[in-house]
Amino acid sequence: MTHDAKTTSQREHPDHRHVAGGLDIIGDVHGCAAELQALLHKLGYEARLFGSGEGRRAHVRTPPGRRAVFVGDLVDRGPAAPDVLRLVLALAAEGQALCVPGNHDVKFVRWLQGRQVKLTHGLDRTAHQFESEGAAFRTHVRTFLERLPIHLWLDGGRLAVAHAGIKEDMLGRDTDKIRSFCLYGETSGEQDELGLPVRYHWAAEYRGGTAVVYGHTPVPDADWINGTLCIDTGCCFGGKLTALRWPEREIVSVPAGAAYAPSRRPFGHPPVRPGAAPFAGS
Ligand code: MN
Repeated sequence: MTHDAKTTSQREHPDHRHVAGGLDIIGDVHGCAAELQALLHKLGYEARLFGSGEGRRAHVRTPPGRRAVFVGDLVDRGPAAPDVLRLVLALAAEGQALCVPGNHDVKFVRWLQGRQVKLTHGLDRTAHQFESEGAAFRTHVRTFLERLPIHLWLDGGRLAVAHAGIKEDMLGRDTDKIRSFCLYGETSGEQDELGLPVRYHWAAEYRGGTAVVYGHTPVPDADWINGTLCIDTGCCFGGKLTALRWPEREIVSVPAGAAYAPSRRPFGHPPVRPGAAPFAGS
């Protein structure tokens, strides 16, 4: 409780309704720095990495009137989490990036804080990549991730971005329960035969008037369902990295250069919660 109370006070408030488009909302990057560079280029950004060791830097330039928004899960599984963070931090330093944390980022922060965490689900790779990074960069990354708002309510209330999703009555609020939904989505509290949490398709039951853009669940293609859009298209598993341009609602993707990690579940939305109202379509 003490820890949660502390981190809550460090986090930025989710109400960003004053932030309007154009926004380029980017799905789960998971350490795929080359694909992030390619996607940013396709969206009209400059995004370069140069130098080595402690001198390694990112140079970014944002197209006029645009801003990047990351749905979280910047790290784990992919080949270059430090470079992904260099790009995101460079954009954020110029006020040109907003970001929400994913469940992988939250666990990575605990590792950066020196806490006991299991090096599983790709965190082993991120930890290895950060072993050769300097203390100043690690501190910069940790501070950035600790302060991220648990979700973002944007554009006059018309848009929300949350890692795993959000319900309408949670918008603009930050409690432990809301934080858990934003990070993990709707879960049953049980584990499946692979030891992974059982997930439900919360978006099938969404009836809100605010568009919700999220990631967390790799899908083959980004498709709108009841005003929600999952833009995790499984780049680290050999899929693609996807962005949504808002308010244009244009979907932009680049293919993964390789399958960097084995996928343990097939791509696609989880089952609808037992007893849920029938799917209405949109
Ligand atoms: Mn993810």
